[in-house]
Amino acid sequence: KSIVAIVGRPNVGKSTIFNRLVGERVSIVEDTPGVTRDRIYAEAEWLTTAFNVIDTGGIEMSDEPLLVQMRQQAEIAIDEADVIIFLVNGREGITAADEEVAKILYKSNKPVVVAVNKIDNPEMRNEIYEYYALGFGEPYPISGAHGLGLGDLLDTVIGYFPKMHDQESDDETIYFSVIGRPNVGKSSLVNAMLNEERVIVSELEGTTRDAIDTRLNRDDQDFVIIDTAGMRKRGKVYETTEKYSVLRALKAIERSDVVLVLIDAETGIREQDKKIAGYAHEAGRGIIIAVNKWDTVEKNQNTMKEFEQKVRANFQYLDYAPIVFLSAKTKKRLHTLIPAIKTASENHTKRVPTNVLNDVIMDALAMNPTPTVKGKRLKVLYTTQVAIKPPSFAVFVNDPDLMHFSYKRFLENRIRDAFGFVGTPIKIFARKR
Ligand code: GDP
Repeated sequence: KSIVAIVGRPNVGKSTIFNRLVGERVSIVEDTPGVTRDRIYAEAEWLTTAFNVIDTGGIEMSDEPLLVQMRQQAEIAIDEADVIIFLVNGREGITAADEEVAKILYKSNKPVVVAVNKIDNPEMRNEIYEYYALGFGEPYPISGAHGLGLGDLLDTVIGYFPKMHDQESDDETIYFSVIGRPNVGKSSLVNAMLNEERVIVSELEGTTRDAIDTRLNRDDQDFVIIDTAGMRKRGKVYETTEKYSVLRALKAIERSDVVLVLIDAETGIREQDKKIAGYAHEAGRGIIIAVNKWDTVEKNQNTMKEFEQKVRANFQYLDYAPIVFLSAKTKKRLHTLIPAIKTASENHTKRVPTNVLNDVIMDALAMNPTPTVKGKRLKVLYTTQVAIKPPSFAVFVNDPDLMHFSYKRFLENRIRDAFGFVGTPIKIFARKR
């Protein structure tokens, strides 16, 4: 999906426009306990085109002066986005700060569309002409407060989207990425893996111009490592900020079938690790937890077991993800990663036969009778797998409201016991027959 970034000085209405574009979508995402979400990156849709939007205003670098922050937000937009919406305030004219942002945007080769906000009624439309002076062509009058003008703006924005290769049609290839907070060793790991796999076929141009994805092949299986950029091209000031690293992870998750959530054994588990892993879980990707820098840990017989328990306690919702202990530095256990990714991907795309599935559910119902809520008993009639990536199951019942979280969880565990599904989340929906 293409990425649109909203850029502009503070208080021009970036978050309002972001929320308008994204609508309800952010809040419908299933919330994972213990994971706070940032509303800086979300999916939007116009006509039949889905795309992602970044609110660069949400990426704050707390201790930097405003001007520096604006500059960095504009640079992030240039790096990350396919099209940039440059938002200005239609009630204030062009300010010095607007010109400052414009100067940075000029230097990019990305398409920039100027949106003039706070044009709340048609009479005000004459006031937008002065914004031609910004040098990005026709300015679009909009009103975030009243939701006006967004259609014309989006028609133009979408017109600039690059043509992308269709990832769905390339279904034999396993796309994966390494995600994690800054300095956990993502680039070290990717480089080490690439050195280990001597069978690199080619480097692929990614969907954004800075990303270089690498294709490799092992045992007749094609893989693509998605470049979480920053890996090849480093040294930007904002790279180590928390919000930016989350943004990077979200972009990588979006394009991956399987993600390696990398944790640093030396520093231990942090809140940000949980946040990043939570996004991968909610996106329904295959997941492997990799504990890096294991070489730095002083070990006895119990060390690994204890660390594993710590990981399980901190990432309860990832109980299906295998844990690999490794060192990008000494290359210990790197060879186990590709097979683990392959297994996770196989499970992520696995279909189970309906008759066997229903036998499993019947046994489960016999073992743990369905709950009765307010005198009404849940009846499970029939279960069928409706999707892969991740495997998703529709359970047809007399009344979906009677299927509580705990019973769903019980059925999920029975399905897992019967079919494995290591390394992938699975989804269960109650449907009225
Ligand atoms: P990234 O920000 O996640 O891409 O992290 P880097 O790959 O840049 O690594 C951050 C730092 O950790 C660098 O100084 C690496 O040399 C170091 N590092 C990475 N992997 C390991 C490891 O397995 N063991 C040790 N001891 N250091 C590592």
